[in-house]
Parts: sequence; structure tokens; C-alpha cells
Amino acid sequence: MKVNYGNTVPISTVDWHGKVSIVFFLRGCPYRCPYCQNHELLFESNLVDTSLLEAEMKKSRPFVSSVVFSGGEPLMQKDTVMHLAGFAKKIGLLVGIHTNGYYPHVMAELMEKGLVDKFFIDVKAPVNDAEMYAKAIGCKDYTDMHLDPQNAMEKVAESINLVLAKGVELELRTTIIRDFIGSSDDVSEIARSINELTGSREVVYVLQQGFAENAMMESLRNIKPLSRDELLELAVVSHEFLENIYVRSKEKGNEKVNFKSV
Ligand code: SF4
Repeated sequence: MKVNYGNTVPISTVDWHGKVSIVFFLRGCPYRCPYCQNHELLFESNLVDTSLLEAEMKKSRPFVSSVVFSGGEPLMQKDTVMHLAGFAKKIGLLVGIHTNGYYPHVMAELMEKGLVDKFFIDVKAPVNDAEMYAKAIGCKDYTDMHLDPQNAMEKVAESINLVLAKGVELELRTTIIRDFIGSSDDVSEIARSINELTGSREVVYVLQQGFAENAMMESLRNIKPLSRDELLELAVVSHEFLENIYVRSKEKGNEKVNFKSV
């Protein structure tokens, strides 16, 4: 079986907080987020045999407890991810998937087959605001994309509810890019929309420091990342709607926000 393959990080401690993972970056994505850092994975293909990735998993196995499929959008390659997740399970690895939430049916099948332990879903904009979603995923700037933002946003919402209904571990996260998506109003609306969608304050929500220096859209490349302190201010704003908020920054890594001390 072939996989449209980008690259591998053999040992990572940052892609699944609390676990050591091997991470595969797969090619292809239906979105065109203007701030995408991995845009070199979006356009060209590189088909290799899945046995190559299996060999890499075996090599990393003594040092890692999990595999993470990232990208690009790994769930674009349904059969391949099913196959590789099955192999990972066979050699005793936990399976985590970074996804933009566009493929709820693939997520459902992975969960039915018991092939996934944790989903990390991007919430790129409020999941009740198609216009903001259109901006975040590039519908406005990349008109060759032909993707309906309303439909994309609904799929994200469906994906979140599916994972919650199945009780599989879930992290929702937003990449914060100054002056693009990351004002306190933006973040407040995202947190509110998650609360309304899930009917709960309890879902794990991560505010990720976004770096735009390698953004797909050149005009974003001079944007300065938010500092950890600025992210903490956004966490306070989100706290009106959500309880379990983390901030992920270069300064201090992954931190659960303690609202008594901020
Ligand atoms: S940032 Fe957007 S375009 Fe880039 S891989 Fe993720 S979902 Fe796709």
C-alpha cells in the first residue's frame, strides 16, 4: 500500500503532551489556511510504500509509546491511516491523530475499529461562524479551492461531537496568529461556540502560539507571535466559557492555566 508521505520525527515530546511519540507528517490537505507552516506538504505528492513507515515505527518503538499522524491532513488518506494505525496497535503503540476535522466519517470508522486513542482537532474559528471559518481556511484568499466553508465548519462540529459521544480522548486547539485570528473577541467567540456545541465547559482547549515566519501567505510572514503572557490573557477570556484551558508556547511549553494565579 502507498502513502503520500512528507516526513518523520522519530522521537517527539511535543506532539502529544505527556507522551513520547513518533510523528508522521502526511501530504495533502483540503484547506489552504493562509498561516499554514507546512504548506510544502499541500501541493506535491511523494508516494512511498507503507512498509517504510512501519520500519520507522519499529525502529522508534523502544523509545516511544505512541504514534501521531499529522500533516497536512492525515485523514485524507483513509485506507493508509487505517492500515498504519492497525500496524501501530499490533506493535503496542497508542495512536493519536492531528486533524482539521473535515473527515468525520473516517474518524467514526477509526473509532469503531478501536484504532485511535486520542484526536487533536483544530478549531480554526468559531464553529458557528462560516465567514470566519472561510477566512481561517483560506476560502477567501485561495479561490481555486472550491470548498464550502459552511460545510467545512459543520464537519468540524460533527467531528467534535462524534469523538465526545464515543468517549475517545479529545483535545481541541486553536493556533493564534496576531491580527489574523487571535484577538480577544475572536478567541471569546471560539470558546463560546465550543461551549454551545458541546453543552459543556469541560472539553480540553489549547491556545497554541502560532508562528507565521513560514506562512503560506507571504504578507503574514512578518507577524510577531503572541507572547506567553498574551496567550494567558486570551485564556482568561476563554475561561468565561471553558474550564480546562492550556497555553502552548515556546517560552514554557504546554501549561494548564491555573486561573487562581493569572
Ligand atoms: S494549517 Fe490548514 S492548510 Fe495547513 S495542514 Fe493544517 S489544515 Fe491544512
